Amino acid sequence: MSKPLSDHDRKKQISVKGLAGVENVADLKKNYNRHLHFTLVKDRNVSTKRDYYFALAHTVRDHLVGRWIRTQQSYYEKDPKRVYYLSLEFYMGRTLQNTMVNLALENACDEAMYQLGLDMEELQEMEEDAGLGNGGLGRLAACFLDSMASLGLAAYGYGIRYEFGIFNQKISSGWQVEEADDWLRYGNPWEKARPEYMRPVHFYGRTEHHPDGVKWVDTQVVLALPYDTPVPGYRNNIVNTMRLWSAKAPCEFNLKDFNVGGYIQAVLDRNLAENISRVLYPNDNFFEGKELRLKQEYFVVAATLQDIIRRFKASKFGSRDIVAIQLNDTHPALAIPELMRVLIDEEKLPWDKAWDICIKTCAYTNHTVLPEALERWPIDLFQTLLPRHLEIIYEINRRHLERVSSRYPGDMDRLCRMSLIEEGGQKRVNMAHLCIVGSHAVNGVARIHSDILKATVYVFKHTMLVRYLHAFTWYIQGYFLPREFLNIFGREISDDYVMLNSSQAAPGYHTAKMIIRLITAIGEVVNNDPVVGDRLKVIFLENYRVTLAEKAIPAADLSEQISTAGTEASGTGNMKFMLNGALTIGTMDGANVEMAEEAGEDNFFIFGMRVEDVDAMDAKGYNASEYYNHMPELKQAIDQIAGGFFSPKQPDLFKDIVNMLMHHDRFKVFADYQDYIKCQEKVSALYKKPKEWTKKVILNIAGSGKFSSDRTISQYAREIWGVEPTLEKLAAPDDPK
Ligand SMILES: *Cc1c(COP(=O)(O)O)cnc(C)c1O
Repeated sequence: MSKPLSDHDRKKQISVKGLAGVENVADLKKNYNRHLHFTLVKDRNVSTKRDYYFALAHTVRDHLVGRWIRTQQSYYEKDPKRVYYLSLEFYMGRTLQNTMVNLALENACDEAMYQLGLDMEELQEMEEDAGLGNGGLGRLAACFLDSMASLGLAAYGYGIRYEFGIFNQKISSGWQVEEADDWLRYGNPWEKARPEYMRPVHFYGRTEHHPDGVKWVDTQVVLALPYDTPVPGYRNNIVNTMRLWSAKAPCEFNLKDFNVGGYIQAVLDRNLAENISRVLYPNDNFFEGKELRLKQEYFVVAATLQDIIRRFKASKFGSRDIVAIQLNDTHPALAIPELMRVLIDEEKLPWDKAWDICIKTCAYTNHTVLPEALERWPIDLFQTLLPRHLEIIYEINRRHLERVSSRYPGDMDRLCRMSLIEEGGQKRVNMAHLCIVGSHAVNGVARIHSDILKATVYVFKHTMLVRYLHAFTWYIQGYFLPREFLNIFGREISDDYVMLNSSQAAPGYHTAKMIIRLITAIGEVVNNDPVVGDRLKVIFLENYRVTLAEKAIPAADLSEQISTAGTEASGTGNMKFMLNGALTIGTMDGANVEMAEEAGEDNFFIFGMRVEDVDAMDAKGYNASEYYNHMPELKQAIDQIAGGFFSPKQPDLFKDIVNMLMHHDRFKVFADYQDYIKCQEKVSALYKKPKEWTKKVILNIAGSGKFSSDRTISQYAREIWGVEPTLEKLAAPDDPK
């Protein structure tokens, strides 16, 4: 009998032609040892596991350099129309494995590490996640960069290099506790600082109106220092750039009228300017309206536009075509007034010409229709921080309302509704309206979301609403927890089942934190119940993030996508589960609608109200107690939560949640409860027939192709940006010897 294969040997056996040549492995080992010695300045006696990871990261990085330079050089020579993806978030996760996969280096590196007595997978676990995002919006931006490089688009991601990304979540006695994400502490081998391309960004000050134009004067300057990260395409030798800006105080910061005491204070005060890129705001789908956030939004936009214009002017056929700027939600919406400011005040173009360029250049992706997420900045904040931009926004609005009133004479209601400036109470700038007016294309993130946008937001003459759906290239890994879903309340427990929950609450969001506490409390009771035993476990996975999603999503058999119809714009987690072998129980909301269409409704567990039903219920009024009184199982569950069954030491711990569910639940969850339970019974019945279950899984995976981000980006390129994918590969450069 042969001895069992180790993981390493098994991989070696599987990768018949994937295993790179012996020469390659020898070179990798040589370069690895060189980096350990010269870059890490360590020998094997004193090296830590982190040193070994860094040596591998540098070894792999070397293979990017030639490809990166060659790609950028070929863009310079061919001078195609450039695409700029502007986003306040890029949720990249780890880089090492993705780079090895895209460069076809994974097997050779694994072999090289093995020959050096190291376990590559262990080293990979030493890499920090680049957690520069909250969730779907930021992960989308990361997937889009990957696809733009894989399709050979001359594209750039532009954002902020937050010193602290999304917080690390600890669960302590069942409660969420936040820890700072000091992801750069040990250095970041994937970035290259470019201090030679530093750009000034202005804030505050006032405007002067001269006969020859407007001057923005007496401003405070903060420098934007770019850090470049390579974005390799999939096996095409193309490497694009993600450029993230870091805030740097200028040398003369606060030193204008210094004396000896003033000098020390001025140096200490540099922190104030540099705070701009200190931390990612941990708000997903929520507008907080803080000045520092508005500074971040202008910082990335102002620095990026200087870069775009410099590159445009340097291009050989510069006047031939404009560039494409995609705004990932309204967060970079200031690109519109900033582009106008540069074209009018600095380039001295007339308004109409500048506006034409602006509209042709910008396109906007809307991510939500929930009112609490919409950016509406108070006018007085704008007036102080960006006085010239406020003037420009007023002028955009004046011309816009003139057009509206000439089309709809006397319709004052419409004028108010469509204004960029909200009156009544505190005056505010509505950033979504600014984006709609200043872009040539507006898209939602799923078909139903675009349809809702068209119905609720108005459509302007020049505004094309494009329909989109996002998707993902996601790793398929072999983790399985073969257990059945079962509702935790009031149903018979038949098969083994693990219910996994994972989420992060915004630190200031009380209800979200209480819901996490409720999940952990239910876990404490259920997981220790001797009658339930091992048949049911309720687990809260701590610190959900890209690396955890990569492991947990492929482990799932059933994906619950149970938003109230009309509230989830798209969802992207739903697609990842589908692609990785889970079936879905879901409402007809977001991308679920198209997923069911692609998989076939017979292979999808659909339940609950449709958008029309929700609208009808809104008109009639939703009364939670009707459902509570007529469904004994629901009543029992709610009574248990309210009575302290899950929190015996603090019986009224969850009274706020119960009160919310009973009296002011915007999401009307009880209205979908009965149908949800009935649908779960169908899930349970099917799970008992593994062949039929698996057949549906296969049909779901087969139907998931539409949700590839490559497909999505091809459509953006064609319908919004007007660029051709350069499907050609670049030739491979000489690899490091
Ligand atoms: C995909 C993803 C999300 C978004 O998930 P949704 O279910 O669409 O909200 C959030 N966080 C991480 C880490 C992800 O990978």
